[in-house]
Amino acid sequence: MKNKEEIIILALSMGVVMVPSLILGLVGLLLWGMFWVPTLVAIAIIWVIGYVSDTLSKQKVQVDLAKVKVQELQVRNQQSVETSCAFCKVRNMVPVRLNIRNTFECTKCKQTSLMVFQFTAAQITTPLDLPQWGQKVNLPIQEPVVEVQDIPEVPEPEEVPDAPSLG
Ligand SMILES: [Zn+2]
Repeated sequence: MKNKEEIIILALSMGVVMVPSLILGLVGLLLWGMFWVPTLVAIAIIWVIGYVSDTLSKQKVQVDLAKVKVQELQVRNQQSVETSCAFCKVRNMVPVRLNIRNTFECTKCKQTSLMVFQFTAAQITTPLDLPQWGQKVNLPIQEPVVEVQDIPEVPEPEEVPDAPSLG
């Protein structure tokens, strides 16, 4: 039961506030003949302390979350690529980041190579355009245009003349 838990938590926090406040009130009653003034002052002080510590713990949680995000970014930025040494051609696993100049020391010849990236663009499969509201649904599907270059023509098989009948 969630309600029961909430009631228990509420009662506990009320107890945490009220018990010391009432004790202080009794002390005040014995020392100065005042009960309510020390009790209310104690309630106010405990409430302020609780509010401040709650705010601080929330801030700590946010700071921890930010740290986790930074760590996650660092892990994501640490991609590794297998590449050949520029000197001895031995394969090396090299951590790379796109926002810095990437160099690596070869595990075999200890020479330093510079990483050079080359990017190319490729077509992704274009999804069919969904019909706009009000348009007819049965639009013709456009065939993708394929450019054919320098493909040697396959010669058609020569017609085989009919074999002369042997009669
Ligand atoms: Zn090398």
